[in-house]
Amino acid sequence: MPTLDSNIEFLKGVGPQRAETLKSELGIFTCRDLLYHFPFRYVDRTKFHKIRDVHNEGETVQFRGILRRLETLGEGRAKRLVGSLRDETGMMELVWFQSIHWLEKSLQVGKEYVVYGRVNEFNGRFNITHPEMEEAAAEGMAPARTFDPVYPSTDKLTQKGLDAKGIRKLLRSLLDGISPAEMPETLPDYLLAQFRLVGKWSAIANIHFPENQADLDAATRRLKFEELLFLQLRILQLRTRRKDAIRGFVFEKIGDFFNNFYQDKLPFELTGAQKRVVKEIRGDLAVGKQMNRLVQGDVGSGKTVVALMTMLMALDNGRPSDGERYQACLMAPTEILAQQHFASLTELVGDIGVNVGFLSGSIKGKKREVILQKLASGEIHILIGTHALIEDWVQFKNLGISIIDEQHRFGVEQRAKLWRKNPDGPPHVLVMTATPIPRTLAMTLYGDLDISVIDELPPGRKPIETKHFNEHHRLRVQGFMKEEIAKGRQVYVVYPMIEETEKMDLQDLMSGFEALSRDFPPPQYRISIVHGKMKAADKEFEMQRFVRGETQIMVATTVIEVGVNIPNASVMVIENSERFGLSQLHQLRGRVGRGADQSYCLLVTSFKLSSDGRERIQTMVRTNDGFEISEVDLKLRGPGNIEGTQQSGMLRFLLADLARDGQILAAAREIATQILEKDPGLEAVEHGRLRAHLASEGKDAKVWSRIS
Ligand code: ADP
Ligand code: MG
Repeated sequence: MPTLDSNIEFLKGVGPQRAETLKSELGIFTCRDLLYHFPFRYVDRTKFHKIRDVHNEGETVQFRGILRRLETLGEGRAKRLVGSLRDETGMMELVWFQSIHWLEKSLQVGKEYVVYGRVNEFNGRFNITHPEMEEAAAEGMAPARTFDPVYPSTDKLTQKGLDAKGIRKLLRSLLDGISPAEMPETLPDYLLAQFRLVGKWSAIANIHFPENQADLDAATRRLKFEELLFLQLRILQLRTRRKDAIRGFVFEKIGDFFNNFYQDKLPFELTGAQKRVVKEIRGDLAVGKQMNRLVQGDVGSGKTVVALMTMLMALDNGRPSDGERYQACLMAPTEILAQQHFASLTELVGDIGVNVGFLSGSIKGKKREVILQKLASGEIHILIGTHALIEDWVQFKNLGISIIDEQHRFGVEQRAKLWRKNPDGPPHVLVMTATPIPRTLAMTLYGDLDISVIDELPPGRKPIETKHFNEHHRLRVQGFMKEEIAKGRQVYVVYPMIEETEKMDLQDLMSGFEALSRDFPPPQYRISIVHGKMKAADKEFEMQRFVRGETQIMVATTVIEVGVNIPNASVMVIENSERFGLSQLHQLRGRVGRGADQSYCLLVTSFKLSSDGRERIQTMVRTNDGFEISEVDLKLRGPGNIEGTQQSGMLRFLLADLARDGQILAAAREIATQILEKDPGLEAVEHGRLRAHLASEGKDAKVWSRIS
């Protein structure tokens, strides 16, 4: 009998040819790999259902009943065999489109059958298409009750006899052949007891061949816990090691820039959450370790001023060798947003003596040279700009800290480039995001960053009112816009822009613009328009007209999505809003509600909505809380599709599902933290199993080196 590490070829029933295909199709090289090829569903034939209890399409059911009728209906492609099954609670229709002739002969009206299949809904009635039929066992003999795993397979494997059933056979023989001793426990006994987890061997055996649902659930829970615990142990160990290994500049002094700003310039009292986050950052910067911190804060929570105060902390300190003042930079994902940051920060710092510069791809020639020269001489203290800041030709005199706004648009590699901007060592990094991500995702994706949350909005904000309209309500939407404009407010009207259908979208936008121009005629009304196909200068011109209040309506594609701040704009109309993702809708809505007036978001959709679309709209109407919205988003789209998480190898789990397993993850995270606090090297006797398992999982190292 082969061992777990044997080549899969030597498992009984495999051989060289099938082994080749298992390798190329499923990446199964060893018996152990096969053991970790888990079923993707199970055929539960341990339970019988009553026909009356069927309420949902898609349920998989097993009935026992008498076949009452059998007839062929329809002609040609619509030809089908229809039967009725009756049990003591009701009648269910059975339908076949294939093998009609054969079935007609072999099925007998009046006989009792066990019927298994998936429930469909057709014209408001339930039926089962192509059910599996078996004659019910004779009086006194119970039918076999089985709970069978179904394995993922492929065409090529099926050709070689390894369809779902063939793979099931292999696993049966593997599990019968190996000794449980080959699958040692990986978790300490005290954890098994504390969380009532089944042992490793039993979990593996039962994930493949459970006797019933309860056994399967216990096995699944155990394996998910294990998976998430080891993930968190690795993330936390990595973070500690990096913190220990990488030195950071020490900003111990709180000096004049910071104090003058705080005492004389800050136009409002910081919220409690802002104060807390500033303190957390201050804690990082004073201790000689490189900061890698993520600040999550909903739109409008006041991240900009936190960024500024962080930068001032850097500016108030100097290089120990020669006292050279540290510089700071702030990077934004778009030109418009970068310019807005530049304008608002310049205004905020006023005359306290801080020099703020601006750089982007559009600054060229002589102007660029001047800026680069001032940057290299240290005359510019804070540089604000776009991606251009990380280009190699941008050289600072002594960069101490980088702030990245709206981080989901910056890749890990770009973050890494920033690290090399100062030959003395890596600058501190602060990442700010207004796309809240669910806690479970943050713990995993950004598990290596420290996280601060600004979970409080500045006082006096009125929550944005969100309403749903369909296309038949257009007059009401227009009437509402007119009322608000009459009060002196401004209105955004946004159209989706999705790349594959760019042409169509532009048409939508242009015809919407024309319709609006008719309904809101000059001179009473003036309308700006901005879209992705315009030249930067034209966009800027139109934006500025709206900013200055010369136009009352801004028709735009999602170019205004991020960051733009126009307090007098208090109405956001989103056309075709069912086509936007939740986080985008939330971002767009965040463009209003920035001033003192009551703000509104009007979501216009077509009359008919998909169920996902409806849930997105309803979520928006129900809540303004970005974190709550991100949870729904995660549930609807799955972790791999949340913005910023694409291509993350870390989200590939064997069993765990971050959208559903939040509680298990939270428990695993807490336990991992406790364990490492007490025993950072996992040297204690009771942690021997953890240490051994982590060491044996070295093959994942590639993923892990990529995440910092
Ligand atoms: P975001 O977190 O979306 O980047 P901003 O930093 O742009 O938010 O802040 C939104 C608005 O709130 C700005 O006009 C800013 O001046 C204002 N603001 C920020 N903090 C406070 C506060 N503590 N009290 C009152 N207004 C504040
Ligand atoms: Mg912002």
